[in-house]
Amino acid sequence: MKARFISTRTQALLAILLSSTVVTAQTRIVPPNNSYSPSQDVELGRQAAAQVRQELPIMRDDLMTSYVEGIGRRLVSAVPPELQHSEFHYTFEVVNVREINAFALPGGPMFVNRGMMDAAKSEGEIAGVMAHELSHVVLRHGTAQAGKQTAAGIGQIAGAILGSIVGGTWGQVISQGTQFGIGTYFLKFSREYEQQADLEGCQIMARAGYDPRDMANMFKTIEKQGGSGGPQWLSDHPNPGNRYNYITEEAKSLRVDNPIRDTRAFNQVKSHLAQLAPAPTTEQATRARNTGGGRRPSGGETRTPTGRVQPPSSSYRTYDEANLFRVSVPSNWQEIQESSTVMFAPDGAYGASGGQSVFTHGMEFGLARNESHDLQTATDELIQSLSQGNPNMRRQAGYDRVSFAGRRGLRTQLLNRNEATGQDEVVQVYAAQLRNGNLLYAIGVAPRDEFASYRSVFDRVVGSLAVND
Ligand SMILES: [Zn+2]
Repeated sequence: MKARFISTRTQALLAILLSSTVVTAQTRIVPPNNSYSPSQDVELGRQAAAQVRQELPIMRDDLMTSYVEGIGRRLVSAVPPELQHSEFHYTFEVVNVREINAFALPGGPMFVNRGMMDAAKSEGEIAGVMAHELSHVVLRHGTAQAGKQTAAGIGQIAGAILGSIVGGTWGQVISQGTQFGIGTYFLKFSREYEQQADLEGCQIMARAGYDPRDMANMFKTIEKQGGSGGPQWLSDHPNPGNRYNYITEEAKSLRVDNPIRDTRAFNQVKSHLAQLAPAPTTEQATRARNTGGGRRPSGGETRTPTGRVQPPSSSYRTYDEANLFRVSVPSNWQEIQESSTVMFAPDGAYGASGGQSVFTHGMEFGLARNESHDLQTATDELIQSLSQGNPNMRRQAGYDRVSFAGRRGLRTQLLNRNEATGQDEVVQVYAAQLRNGNLLYAIGVAPRDEFASYRSVFDRVVGSLAVND
């Protein structure tokens, strides 16, 4: 069975040797400005991919894996030199879920849903979607997009990558609502980037020996399979309009002399797929995984913090969140990643209630959208949104001016009755604006009768915070 799959390197070489592509007047694609370094792409993508592998069922099936890898390697070897990044590391995995989808993460990890393979009518169609995804990677659209978004930045991106399906402790301060935490930042693209990925993808396909028009064919197949709300792929990759026309136009300028016509491997994969049990939906698959253990709270689960909490250690440990921010916390605090925030809390101080995480001691870092307000108004709004998830919370004081993350910040205190434990607690909020205007915040929580010993800990943690914006 393996014999069909000649080594991918040989395959790639053959593809290049066989397909003498005559290129005339192809559209020149210029990657967008990007404030991240290629090595940050790699790091962010690596972390996001680790999360994907945790959340979604990856197929461990030699036939499928080597087939998709073969197509992937062939496409990668056709990436034009000016878009090659030596630090990128390309991987190609099949996710055993039913939806027609595929996605790639910064720095190279690519995931193709089994539903996409099921829907494809030819190898060229699979290659079309993969070439499109690969183009997003080499044009570095994920990080360019993340840097551009109003709400983007550190806490949110780190949280988004590291996150879970469940909202943060403080309710929907920043609502994600994506398929799995990583969603929006790296996978949802503007129409401008879509067109770039279509056109670059066409060129890569042609260089790799595929007919670029197969990309348009696959997009049509995806659109036809709309269903309720349409496939996720389309909402992440919106049609810039005219998609089929400009792909066809681009294809005309890209002659592929020896297109790949061998369909044996494709047919073999299709008949193999037909023999497998049907793939679950993404929702079924993620639900099965999330109820299968792990510390992540899933909807409705209740796990009250035990309340037996050691005092904060006097030794500190530094965490570097995806090169985006750095903070030192007492070494007996654990890092707990949520969909949009990062939390540090000691054992026994963390639990879940009604699908939301609850903590009694520790600190949480996050980011809130702020488009037009001054620091104080934005902080007022943050506190207001915190109050929505914590109806017993009351303001105790006005704002103190403090230094926060090396910039002008505000600090204030609130009193709350923790709904999960019934205890009174002090909530200390710190906030400052990032360069893009969004609000970076930290929230320290401790029971009222222990607050005196936590106040200086919060200030010390906050004092160590360094942000890379
Ligand atoms: Zn796209």
